[in-house]
Amino acid sequence: MGIILNLHELPRRSGEYKDYTLDFILTEPIGVAMIAVQIGRSLDISLTATSVDEGVLIRGQILALAEGQCSRCLDPVREDIDQSFDELFEYESKAAKLSKDDVDTDEILMVKDDCIDIETPVRDAIVLALEVNPLCSLDCLGLCPGCGERYENLPADHDHQAIDPRWSALSDLAKKLDGKG
Ligand SMILES: [Zn+2]
Ligand SMILES: [Zn+2]
Repeated sequence: MGIILNLHELPRRSGEYKDYTLDFILTEPIGVAMIAVQIGRSLDISLTATSVDEGVLIRGQILALAEGQCSRCLDPVREDIDQSFDELFEYESKAAKLSKDDVDTDEILMVKDDCIDIETPVRDAIVLALEVNPLCSLDCLGLCPGCGERYENLPADHDHQAIDPRWSALSDLAKKLDGKG
């Protein structure tokens, strides 16, 4: 996807800084299995870029709406995200020097042609902000595994006579045989 920010207006003198705001519409979801900021939703990102000797330091704040399902009853769940992140993007020349020193540069975020791609730190920050097992309410009772109905809509003594499906075929056969005999 790539969330690209052009920094050509930022003076490269160490200590100079500039504020940016980005309104980014997602073309793929960002989140975890049960809840995510969905395609078509926007990320409201405000950030300060500061020039430092090695590159550009980014301090960002992300506002977004995540939507998903309660991990117990599968009801829709929404969660407001308000998450910050800090990340250093290095100048290519610095990164090239590191690669000469046998440092793995795949993981290094770089300033390329005055641009940075903040997708990775944004993605990490959003995933960090989300519940892996979101709930519609803390006391959600979930669904009956027997019939899929919500426990809160069922009487307290609700129960199913547990018949293993492998045995139910046999019991059908037994009934037929009984009928013949
Ligand atoms: Zn629930
Ligand atoms: Zn049931």
